[in-house]
Amino acid sequence: MDFDAIVIGSGQAGVPLATRLAKSGRRVLLAERGALGGTCVNTGCTPTKTLVASARAAHVARTGGRLGVRVEAVQVDFPAVVARKDAMVGTWQEGVTRRIAGAGATLRLVRDHARLVGERTVEVGGERHRADLIVLNVGARPVQPPIPGLGQVPWLDNRRVMQLPELPQHLVVVGGGYIGCELAQAFRRFGAAVTILEPGPRLLAREDVEASQAIEAVFRAEGLTVLLGAPVQAVSGGPGQVTVRLSGGTSVEGSHLLVATGRRPNTDDLGCSEGGVRLDGRGFVEVDDRYQTSAPGVYAVGDCAGGPQFTHTAWDDHRLLFEVLAGRGTRGRKDRLVPYTVYTDPQVAGVGLTEREARARGVAVEVATLPFGSIARAIETDEKAGLVKVLLDPATERILGASIVGAEAGELIHVFAALMQAGAPARALVDLEAVHPSFAEGLQAAVMTLPRYALT
Ligand SMILES: Cc1cc2nc3c(=O)[nH]c(=O)nc-3n(C[C@H](O)[C@H](O)[C@H](O)COP(=O)(O)OP(=O)(O)OC[C@H]3O[C@@H](n4cnc5c(N)ncnc54)[C@H](O)[C@@H]3O)c2cc1C
Repeated sequence: MDFDAIVIGSGQAGVPLATRLAKSGRRVLLAERGALGGTCVNTGCTPTKTLVASARAAHVARTGGRLGVRVEAVQVDFPAVVARKDAMVGTWQEGVTRRIAGAGATLRLVRDHARLVGERTVEVGGERHRADLIVLNVGARPVQPPIPGLGQVPWLDNRRVMQLPELPQHLVVVGGGYIGCELAQAFRRFGAAVTILEPGPRLLAREDVEASQAIEAVFRAEGLTVLLGAPVQAVSGGPGQVTVRLSGGTSVEGSHLLVATGRRPNTDDLGCSEGGVRLDGRGFVEVDDRYQTSAPGVYAVGDCAGGPQFTHTAWDDHRLLFEVLAGRGTRGRKDRLVPYTVYTDPQVAGVGLTEREARARGVAVEVATLPFGSIARAIETDEKAGLVKVLLDPATERILGASIVGAEAGELIHVFAALMQAGAPARALVDLEAVHPSFAEGLQAAVMTLPRYALT
């Protein structure tokens, strides 16, 4: 049988695209060389957020005294934590399997590595297939940075650290980005000693400096060691003992080494040059605003297409591309809002411009800031760390960006995302009757710190 469409990769864009195309009557081949569901389900969002939930339970139990609830000797059953995480991954994997099976006989799943071997032609499972439509959804994987000695020590990436059978005694984390921060805090809460080594001057470098500082303060208060401006010179050691040498001659000893320094696209073994698909200097597939690559009929979506690397972005890519293919696409990939959340505790969430980006681009902004600890709900629940920051266009009162560090920031950010999506002015939030006591009240209060909304 030959195919109308070939989708390479069963990630967050590939599965919904393949199944919807098949349900619309097209003959579709879906190729997957690894676990069904891709990064999010197997080694990304699902397992990390499941671990983070267990870690938070330990933290809440341990610190209950601040609310007058004392729990004696909190014990973390690490194998049970890992088993819960594995079960959760299994449940989501089953969901993906069901979804693929439910698409009907016109969808054929081939569990193998696929590569382009010519114009609109793919080799997979020992066969060659040509299709008018090819979609690349091959995702990304952790970078192995060029640290001298790394190849000789048993270092962990986000995949391997979540398979550890026992809690590390001392986890050394190289990289203070979101993956490093989420995992570092979780392992600290499970009971490991944790040291973060960040070469730059602050954690979560994409955020405004106040957000980075808020997270750093929380981490230090929880007993994590945070070394900033600490580029790694070399590593050495073996199982259960690693030494990380830093510039300046100091070194850090630990039992395990987690390296979280970025991700690279899975395009190096995809046959892009044979297929006429151009890559950028970092290996991402070059696509236009409608996901079209340099090869006619070949599209790319998700992490490999070089946009923000989030599950919701990959999923949204599938939706936009489906509309493009149906001839209905009016929105492009570039003119959309991409909210995000870092699942540290407190969470860090953002949408639109940060203040730093606005200033760098010369965009005129009014900035409203409110400490999270000024919000009644935050005081009553003792979740006071963080802040709310909102950027407004002074001429139109429209929101240009927002960032929140605080409890449930990942939920709260949707208030700003929805207002921005609707093109509504910030006054809409001022005129809202917000529930008391709620964290959301703080969003309104933040905006009302601006003189134009002050009550007189
Ligand atoms: C630790 C971690 C935590 C994360 N947490 C979050 C989060 O909380 N929220 C969020 O939004 N995002 C999160 N992400 C990012 C998110 O997981 C990714 O952005 C998302 O999964 C990308 O989906 P995708 O469809 O582009 O690719 P993937 O999900 O990576 O899917 C690509 C698939 O293609 C397959 N493949 C690759 N090459 C080939 C080939 N040649 N032939 C056949 N198959 C191939 C791969 O095996 C893989 O299954 C996290 C990532 C990590 C690593």
